[in-house]
Amino acid sequence: MQPLTAEEIRSSIVNASKGDARRMHLPATPEQLNWDDLDFLGWRDPKAPGRAYLIVPLGSTVVGLVLSATVPPRSLMRSNMCGFCHTFHDAASIALFSARLAGAAGRHGNTAGTYACTDLACPLYARNLRKPFLPQAAETVTVEERVARLRQKVTAFVERVLDTTASATAGGE
Ligand SMILES: [Zn+2]
Repeated sequence: MQPLTAEEIRSSIVNASKGDARRMHLPATPEQLNWDDLDFLGWRDPKAPGRAYLIVPLGSTVVGLVLSATVPPRSLMRSNMCGFCHTFHDAASIALFSARLAGAAGRHGNTAGTYACTDLACPLYARNLRKPFLPQAAETVTVEERVARLRQKVTAFVERVLDTTASATAGGE
């Protein structure tokens, strides 16, 4: 993805207040990131482990989401596969992320959720640049196909968060 400045990252947030966006802790100095290997920028807030951020290119713009991260008890864990990059994880390496919807639907408490890699490093897993703890089922798809699938899944999640008309009638999940 195109490199972003700290200011661009903060101003991309669509589902939280400007104050929340100002208070978020960035992962590293943005100039040090390997943007070429990223389909999106995702990280856990280093000072608030229950918070996470997802910054996703969408068309000609960039959409940033504030997420809350929870680790359900093992008995309630519905999946150990990341919904974005399809990596299988042990219980410590997967979390349930939920995003308040943008706009009025979010103010009414509606959210969208997905299981995903705890570290949100899906672009690195998809490119085999980071190895998961668990051995993976053999996949017949190429790295390019995994990256394309990852982009499609993340885009679909962002569109769910942005889709205020559908969520206003559905009443959330
Ligand atoms: Zn993942």
